Amino acid sequence: MSAVVDVLTNGYVHERVASSVILVRENDAIIIIDPGMVVSREEILGPLHALGLHEDDVTDVIFSHHHPDHTLNAALFLNARYHDVWAIYFNDHWDDRTDVIEGAPSVSLLDTPGHTKEDISTLIMTDEGLVVCTHLWWSVQGPEVDPRAFDQGLLESSRAAVLALKPLTIIPGHGPAFSPAELTR
Ligand SMILES: [Zn+2]
Ligand SMILES: [Zn+2]
Repeated sequence: MSAVVDVLTNGYVHERVASSVILVRENDAIIIIDPGMVVSREEILGPLHALGLHEDDVTDVIFSHHHPDHTLNAALFLNARYHDVWAIYFNDHWDDRTDVIEGAPSVSLLDTPGHTKEDISTLIMTDEGLVVCTHLWWSVQGPEVDPRAFDQGLLESSRAAVLALKPLTIIPGHGPAFSPAELTR
């Protein structure tokens, strides 16, 4: 049992801002993480279509937290359930949060507060190892001290909790995937 991860678009922060948008597939589950700000929606839809998928096929959307740079394009996915730190939302249903995604046993959600009180990370077991999608790092450069952090101490505890899982790869909120070893260089 394992899932497949594709980064649809790499995020960045400079004078402009874009979110890393990630696709996770396992069995019939088609999951998008952080359909946020991008230069154009084609940055999300183009790579999705290139993989033979349509936005209406997406079964689940996960928000790492509630900031607009990670949520702005949420409405692209007409049939998806939406997951955040609190709940699962589908049309007019507001149901209890679960740490698992129905139909995707290799995918789970972990509370990782710090940047905001309401941050979660997505843990994905792949054939190669654990992949973590998280806003605990904006990119491999950190920043070590998050200037927007709700609570830097909490952020550091959450980072330690994620690193203790020994992930193979971390996909940060605003940069390309990196290996945890790159953080200590
Ligand atoms: Zn944020
Ligand atoms: Zn962000």
